[in-house]
Amino acid sequence: MMNAAASDSTTIQALRDMPKAELHLHIEGSLEPELALRLAARNHIELPYRDLDDLKRQYAFENLPSFLDLYYRLMTVLRSREDFRDLMLAYLERAHADGVRRAEIFFDPQVHMDNGCGIDTVMDGLLEGLAIGRERYGIRGDLIVCMLRDRPVESAMATLDAVEHRAGDLIGIGLDSAEVGYPPEPFAEVYARAAAMGLHRVAHAGEEGSAAYVTGALDALHVERVDHGIHSADDPAVTRRLADGGVALTCCPLSNLRLNVVGDVRDLPLRELARAGVRITVNSDDPAYFGGYIADNYIALAEAGYTMPELAEFARQSLLATFDTPENQSADLAAWEAWRRRYGSLLLQ
Ligand SMILES: [Zn+2]
Repeated sequence: MMNAAASDSTTIQALRDMPKAELHLHIEGSLEPELALRLAARNHIELPYRDLDDLKRQYAFENLPSFLDLYYRLMTVLRSREDFRDLMLAYLERAHADGVRRAEIFFDPQVHMDNGCGIDTVMDGLLEGLAIGRERYGIRGDLIVCMLRDRPVESAMATLDAVEHRAGDLIGIGLDSAEVGYPPEPFAEVYARAAAMGLHRVAHAGEEGSAAYVTGALDALHVERVDHGIHSADDPAVTRRLADGGVALTCCPLSNLRLNVVGDVRDLPLRELARAGVRITVNSDDPAYFGGYIADNYIALAEAGYTMPELAEFARQSLLATFDTPENQSADLAAWEAWRRRYGSLLLQ
């Protein structure tokens, strides 16, 4: 029954129109092959691909190492403020088509600084893109500075030094990259300092790692949201703690599928977590690489049997889980209510 509903064009349009927030998006992961080649030409950078078709074939990577190899290689085409602006605008155009009203966006300064970009070049470009996107698409966006957990803590601390003078241009701090073997606890001091700078705190945890990584992120980093967090479902005590604390998870179904965290979207425990009272949100992670932007992730869940009321509730939770002002959250919720009235019949299934 739900497969029929999911393939229905009205349902798909409703899921695209549904007002939502994107809370788990790496801006570098929105670099489409066409833009990568354009920026490479602009910056006179040689990439080891014959043409667009050859590059597109590389996006059919087979595992995490081959994904990361392509990901970091393509990041070398980002050099100037204009490059970062254009990357942001290309993402916001897609997000707008997918009903995003609010986006809290990760970026990885350590990699850009390795590539010779100053932090101000990176941030000025991304912020310029956000400002233009707000005018053009009405999307309110903010930046979350992400630290690579598979690098030494000293590198994260040095990155925090580098962004400190721009703390007012950031909304939060995050922790990303390869999880297993890199627990959150060593980053406690980095997060304490970021909190003192007025930043909100999130971290990837419980994606490939166990529920213990989620506990570590809560205890040591005092995170307000958990990115991925799906392995919380393996431990009833962690599930209960998230539910009782109102901590939202930023889940990314197509990413989990593409990186073989699960073999099938049906195997994700989002329904079980939601029924246990955990706040679930749906996001796209690295959409250029994982087969779809945010609405495609909702559609994948619909195809896996999630009902419209369930998906609508995930979107409502995303609007409530932002770090935005109460006034903006109220406006987003009003838009969501208006959407619900417009598609009322679909929500009765
Ligand atoms: Zn991520």
